[in-house]
Amino acid sequence: MAIERIVNTTPPDDVDADEQELEQTLRPRDFKSYVGQERLKKNLQLAISAAKKRGEPVDHVLLYGPPGLGKTTMATVIANEMGAQIRITSGPAIERAGDLASLLTNLQDGDILFIDEIHHLNRTVEEVLYSAMEDFKLDIMLGKGPSARSLRLDLPKFTIIGATTRAGALGAPLRDRFGMTHRLEFYTPGEIAKILHRSAKILNVPIDVPAGKLLAERARLTPRIANRLLRRVRDYADINGDGIIDEPLAHKALDLLEIDKLGLDPADRHLLSVIIEHHDGGPVGVETLAALTSEERGTIEDFYEPYLMQIGLLERTPRGRKVTLRAWEHLGKQPTKKAQPKLL
Ligand code: ADP
Repeated sequence: MAIERIVNTTPPDDVDADEQELEQTLRPRDFKSYVGQERLKKNLQLAISAAKKRGEPVDHVLLYGPPGLGKTTMATVIANEMGAQIRITSGPAIERAGDLASLLTNLQDGDILFIDEIHHLNRTVEEVLYSAMEDFKLDIMLGKGPSARSLRLDLPKFTIIGATTRAGALGAPLRDRFGMTHRLEFYTPGEIAKILHRSAKILNVPIDVPAGKLLAERARLTPRIANRLLRRVRDYADINGDGIIDEPLAHKALDLLEIDKLGLDPADRHLLSVIIEHHDGGPVGVETLAALTSEERGTIEDFYEPYLMQIGLLERTPRGRKVTLRAWEHLGKQPTKKAQPKLL
């Protein structure tokens, strides 16, 4: 399979070039090495077998869920399992309808076009995508004004795999054009441990089972974070030890990184303590939170909140974000009198 990055995707701020390269190395290439997400895998395996039997491309797939859970990886696995070529682009990189037209007309039968951050596509581009996805036709307008006419081009039979951190941000007409929509779930610590040991093997990093378990518990149930932690702890082991990661060493490295028992880093704790200290535990609107923490609203919604909600430290209410009793306890704080009724 050829993976061709035809349009430079803007990497999220927290993923540097080094890390992107590492991600390529560590990316599972087939269902067997893709850990977890069993329900998603079962559904996709069925769809792929059926498509292969019919000799058709697989239906368009929309994958959604927080960053780092394996959406891009799954797209490349699907391509591999289909024996298809994948082209990777992203919503913000497709600015004009013409950009999309040139991407689509360069595809071949059976190709997969992966569009990351698909919720960032603008309206005009989205509209071109509708008929492309539905009928494999491309409608383009030639000329302007009264002499303008539209032209319909046949496109090859391709598959779009869209990825988004927010399914809700996608308009219904686009969402409806995906034959399959799947949410990626957070992983269990056991699955994360498996991913860690797999990555350690590929990177030739000696790590024992208790250390793997410890790092897995602190990796926000997210493969990307697990791999990132492994790399940081490896650095620590190279400088402060003999390169071998055991539990005592992993503990020391995690302390240095200020990652606590629940996998929270200083930024997570700051977010929670802002809600506690400035708003008696909430509820507080996300815009206010963004201003108080100097984080972007999108980063709070896509990155911080899903994990904090998953482990029961934060709740979304119609009136804003609210911390739970567990969050007060975790930060070693006693709920104030004003906060107590809100925790019931
Ligand atoms: P997303 O597209 O959802 O942001 P990615 O697919 O880029 O996430 O995954 C980030 C990294 O995590 C990948 O480089 C890959 O090494 C690892 N990863 C993700 N999912 C899995 C998985 N199920 N099994 C093993 N490694 C995974």
